[in-house]
Amino acid sequence: MSDHHISRRKFLKAGTCGLAAVPMAGLVWSSNAQAQERLKEDDPSAQALHYVHNAADADHADYQQGQTCLNCDLYTDPNAQDWGPCAVFPGKVVAAGGWCSAYVPRS
Ligand code: SF4
Repeated sequence: MSDHHISRRKFLKAGTCGLAAVPMAGLVWSSNAQAQERLKEDDPSAQALHYVHNAADADHADYQQGQTCLNCDLYTDPNAQDWGPCAVFPGKVVAAGGWCSAYVPRS
C-alpha cells in the first residue's frame, strides 16, 4: 500500500469520526440551550421582582445607577458575560446587563 493510500485512509477514518461527533455535539448544545432558557420580562416571576433586561430601564425606587446582574451577588456565574444564571430564577438565565429588585451588591 502506498503512502497515498494510508493518508487517504486516515483522512477518511478521521472524517467518519468527525461526522459521528456532530450529532453528539448537537445533543450537548440542545440540552444546554434548554437549561439556559432566557428569562422573559413578562414572566410573572420576573414581573414580581421588576426584572428588566437592561438595567437602565429599571423603574424602581431601589435601583441605583451602575447596578446590573453582572455585579449582583446572586448572579452565580460572573464569567457569563451576556446571559447567566441567577439564584432567584432557577433554570433560566438573566441578562448580564439586567436588574431586578432582589439585587444584592457583589461582596
Ligand atoms: S437577583 Fe441579581 S442577578 Fe438575579 S435578576 Fe436580580 S439583579 Fe439580576
